[in-house]
Amino acid sequence: MATLLFLPSFVLSFRRPPVKIINLACTISRHYTYTQVICTNLSKQYMYDLVVLGGGSGGLAAAKQAAELGARVAVFDYVTPSPKGTKWGLGGTCVNVGCIPKKLMHQAALLGEAVHEAAAFGWVIPDIKSVQINWEALSVAVQNHIKSVNWVTRVDLKNKKVEYINALGYFKDPHTIGGIMKNGEENVVTAKNILIAVGGRPKYPDIPGAIENGITSDDIFSLSQPPGKTLIVGAGYIGLECAGFLNGLGYNTTVMVRSIILRGFDQQMANIIAEEMEQRGVHFIYQAKPKLIKKEADGILVHWVDKLGQVQKDVYDTVLFAIGRRALTKDLKLENAGVICIPDDDKIDAVDEQTNVPHIYAVGDILHKKPELTPVAIHAGKLLSKRLFANSSETMDYTNIATTVFSPLEYGCVGLSEEQANIIYGEDNIEIYHAYYKPTEFFIPQKDNSHCYLKVVTLRNNDQKVIGMHFIGPNAGEVIQGFATAIKSNLTFPILKSTVGIHPTSAEELIRVFITKRSKMDPKPQSCCS
Ligand code: FAD
Repeated sequence: MATLLFLPSFVLSFRRPPVKIINLACTISRHYTYTQVICTNLSKQYMYDLVVLGGGSGGLAAAKQAAELGARVAVFDYVTPSPKGTKWGLGGTCVNVGCIPKKLMHQAALLGEAVHEAAAFGWVIPDIKSVQINWEALSVAVQNHIKSVNWVTRVDLKNKKVEYINALGYFKDPHTIGGIMKNGEENVVTAKNILIAVGGRPKYPDIPGAIENGITSDDIFSLSQPPGKTLIVGAGYIGLECAGFLNGLGYNTTVMVRSIILRGFDQQMANIIAEEMEQRGVHFIYQAKPKLIKKEADGILVHWVDKLGQVQKDVYDTVLFAIGRRALTKDLKLENAGVICIPDDDKIDAVDEQTNVPHIYAVGDILHKKPELTPVAIHAGKLLSKRLFANSSETMDYTNIATTVFSPLEYGCVGLSEEQANIIYGEDNIEIYHAYYKPTEFFIPQKDNSHCYLKVVTLRNNDQKVIGMHFIGPNAGEVIQGFATAIKSNLTFPILKSTVGIHPTSAEELIRVFITKRSKMDPKPQSCCS
């Protein structure tokens, strides 16, 4: 029998104010209302050792790892349809409406570019002017791939003996999860440990017609009709990536920017990306905010307020909001478990993924002030399960995480931006090495290389430790990944310079760099092979 110990007050670990505390009283049965319950005789009294809320990148990684270590595991996953009615299968944002369809559409756009370059390399392409994208074929191909991943994911869970419950989960009490299934019935389970990994969904602006007439990244990858002339509201990485592939696929594309491009990224690199996109044909409307979205006979009418406060308007076929994502904590009834979240962003603050309630954990996009990236969620989830079920003590290191904006000339980076380095170490204590370069494959098709640029941020003392690397160019994601390992291994500038490059690649340009910003020497391209 479980031993229930009733304490006079909820013992909260107030680690980081300010926090929102929501109704600490919980009800565990019709008979008891209590402020904190400590259950002993632990695992035997629960149906599972671990219940995971959310079958996305972080939740699935933690669940599978835990099951491999012998834990009894269940995963609740449920996708609330988007306002447009788009829904998808198991696997979370990355697989269904994030990284994977985005990368596939980015690739489709790059191939369109490559077809035109191929002619310069001698390929005979009859009637090259008629080359165009078939949106329906692309969208079906992308969706078919996603469905196959959904299927493989379900089989994988089954093979690993992880129970998959297709239900919207919420806390009934600190150890009990209720899940509302599609037919309205409730599935109730108990668990010794609970992991919150419910991620987020795109936000809509609070303006008339936005929800009725706009779409988000949740809808774009499965759109049955070609998007046509598209307005993208928001210039974070999701907005820019969508703009990049839509423009590359041949659609008239505009990005509306409220304040800055790629907030949180190095701003010199961000502005180079915007210039490059503009040169490729993406229109930018700066310092503007949408005011009204209205369906009309000839399309979607958008009113916006420009930087002078004047109202401007235009008509689009598609309006896509990429103005940020909201954390999905509201549906979880966290108050029933006493889990606290940050009022500003509804996210959960957790030290080593542990919330203020010791047996309740959180990973992935739901975490406050942590990078919203799939590999981050996966790594943290796996490490957590190893700590819970294999006596591991390894914790997640959230620093020096590499990422790439697929824009479509890619921007990959790891470590600190120039601005962050200046703030943390002071301008006098950092050195910025930089260079423009010419990728070999750009020469024959005479592609513009004026935005192929890189920089390496180092300390001036401490053996010139490398604290940031930034690279704009083809395959930036592939280029920066290995350098991320080097930075994690305490790369110094002398070691970087003593590394022999691979010729001819774009990645070797990071090793060839020698001009400092401080020197004011011209960082324009050096000759190719000297
Ligand atoms: P998610 O993957 O969002 O999974 C959460 C799951 O929980 C979802 O299935 C959700 O429906 C479900 N759920 C929510 N509430 C409940 C509930 N109450 N009960 C049951 N289930 C629930 N990251 C990269 O690293 N590289 C990229 O290139 C990249 N590109 C992106 C492009 C786009 C357009 C977007 C939107 C995101 C992209 N990301 C990328 C981010 C990446 O997708 C997320 O960081 C990652 O999916 C977060 O994983 P997660 O486990 O926290 O949540």
